[in-house]
Amino acid sequence: MIEKSFDFNRLYGRVLRYYLQKKHYTKEKANLIAQKVVQKEMMQKTCKNSKCHHLLYDHLRNYESCLIDKCECDGFVKS
Ligand SMILES: [Zn+2]
Ligand SMILES: [Zn+2]
Repeated sequence: MIEKSFDFNRLYGRVLRYYLQKKHYTKEKANLIAQKVVQKEMMQKTCKNSKCHHLLYDHLRNYESCLIDKCECDGFVKS
């Protein structure tokens, strides 16, 4: 089964809400934190194969061959 691609906007919104509502941070501060969280998540979920650079979710069973058209990657490479 192929996992649906990750919704980074949703993660962003969730982190933002958390810091605004539960931590009572200012909007600027909460936005900054949300940006950092999403960036870090994207880095971790991006294949480091020089031919690839697609997301983890684009790989078969998340770790095998990349499913993006014409991509030659045959295994997700972690950083
Ligand atoms: Zn790829
Ligand atoms: Zn890859």
